[in-house]
Amino acid sequence: MAVRPIVLYPDPILKAVCRPADWRDRVVHETAQDLIDTLRQGPGVGVAAPQIGFDIRLFVVDVTPKHPGHGLLVLLNPHMVAGEGSTTGREGCLSVPDFTASVRRHTKVLVQATDLQGNPVSVESEGFEAVCLQHELDHLDGILFLDRVACLKTDVFRRKGVHPRFEPQDYPQGAPP
Ligand SMILES: [Zn+2]
Repeated sequence: MAVRPIVLYPDPILKAVCRPADWRDRVVHETAQDLIDTLRQGPGVGVAAPQIGFDIRLFVVDVTPKHPGHGLLVLLNPHMVAGEGSTTGREGCLSVPDFTASVRRHTKVLVQATDLQGNPVSVESEGFEAVCLQHELDHLDGILFLDRVACLKTDVFRRKGVHPRFEPQDYPQGAPP
């Protein structure tokens, strides 16, 4: 299908709570393919539908071959049914190319979703892939990694060679209303 441009913060769609994805909807299939194409083209390990302009509960993740994982995951209406452990690591986001930040996440998660054929999918994940899944799950609820940062002053880092478009302290933290 197509590689889509990545929507950048502060586009309001990144703060939207996305609506359920219907696997019978042609737009959902097209969006899934566009997400896969966009993921394959770019430097990221995951892309969520709102990042290419669709407020649908759908994302794709593939952390392999750099990290252990399940390969390509295309998840509709995913939700985390269990999370355990805690780890703090450096995260970035295609929609916030200005910064990376230290974010605390579960080390291990169980995510349930459906695939594009409407079949239930259960993904048990740990390590880097688990963190990535939590980051993408947040996108579907209008939450960016900067919302998870404990201290915008000390835990956010400017990317090398990038002139940031805003100061971290000016980021309005919080979940959407
Ligand atoms: Zn992101």
